[in-house]
Amino acid sequence: MVLLAVQCPSCEASSFRELLEFGTGYSSRVCEVCGLNFLAPVPTDEDLKVMYASFEQSYPSRDIVDSENDFVAFARDRFSFVTERVDKSKEGRLLEIGSSYGLFLNLFKETPWEVHGVEPSVLPASFSKQDLALKNVQNCMLDEADFGQKGFDVICSFHVIEHLRNPKKMLLTARKLLKNDGRLFIATPNLIELETNIIHYFFLRHGLHLMQCTPRTLESMLRRCGFEMVSCRQEEDRPAECGSMIVEAKKSSYGGVGSPAEYEYALKFCRKMQKMKRRLSEKFAGWAEGGLDVAVYGAGVHTRGLLELLDEEGLAISVQTIYDDNPAKVGGRLCDIPVKAFREDRLGDIDLIVVSSLAAEKQIIDRLEGIVNGENVKIFGIYRDIVV
Ligand SMILES: [Zn+2]
Repeated sequence: MVLLAVQCPSCEASSFRELLEFGTGYSSRVCEVCGLNFLAPVPTDEDLKVMYASFEQSYPSRDIVDSENDFVAFARDRFSFVTERVDKSKEGRLLEIGSSYGLFLNLFKETPWEVHGVEPSVLPASFSKQDLALKNVQNCMLDEADFGQKGFDVICSFHVIEHLRNPKKMLLTARKLLKNDGRLFIATPNLIELETNIIHYFFLRHGLHLMQCTPRTLESMLRRCGFEMVSCRQEEDRPAECGSMIVEAKKSSYGGVGSPAEYEYALKFCRKMQKMKRRLSEKFAGWAEGGLDVAVYGAGVHTRGLLELLDEEGLAISVQTIYDDNPAKVGGRLCDIPVKAFREDRLGDIDLIVVSSLAAEKQIIDRLEGIVNGENVKIFGIYRDIVV
């Protein structure tokens, strides 16, 4: 791994405090000037490619458009946020940076809007073009894309900016592409809401989320790139978008400085993460000591993060089985543990099922409690039952 020099991705200061070591070579830092929480060292493009390639297998299948799932729910939610602020009945030009499978752009088919997307990943880009017939999706990096001479009325980017090595470069490019009276919409995790969200531990420790913004640190970065925040919605009450925020911004004159007050949030975040990790490890160690056969429900990235965390403590071995509604999505195994479709008659010797899902924890627990009612199987919800 080639380590790059570290400076704050927002204000470029080199004055920061190290808060949390992940044991993967990465650590979480907070800028003492603007308060941004960011990852150090910055992973190289090569590191990022390797990491993202390992996620390909957990991508959703091609029936996602017509089914009820989080991805469709996200797309609809973002569509209503944008169209409540921009008149969808008038003609306009819209660009989504990081358009993924095109689910958001697809919703504009009912409107007169001309929509464009740029998506560097091959599979989602080809799905957008072939399956959704979104002809203006380009499979390349933002810098390599050609949008013609006309500017955009709206530019959107959802859950992309926290993955970028140089987030300001994207914002500055967006500013160039945006018409003077255009609108920019950005969604990203909100540090204030992430304190006990274990999935972010996973993203951080692997160099996938390179920064964690609060509404104010995002606003100060936007200001440095010539934008002014118009509105910000925090998503604390929406399970699907839990821990996120979506902001609307317009072009401004350059200027403005950040606030160091976010330092406290970053500090609190890292302390809670450490506590969460400790509590989880203690629970699993206790179950292993008691000789309980433990299964985990959910075979997503969330569980992968959980198993890695347990692996560090030598506890991953205490998980016998992983249940999921679609075991094929991870090829029937996750971190060398078999993934099975959940069926009542397959419970076998399982004493305890740990529900490992943030967005759907309550639904899964309700369902499992209905099924194992009367059986000698305990249900444990990570977010319901771990309090830090
Ligand atoms: Zn800074």
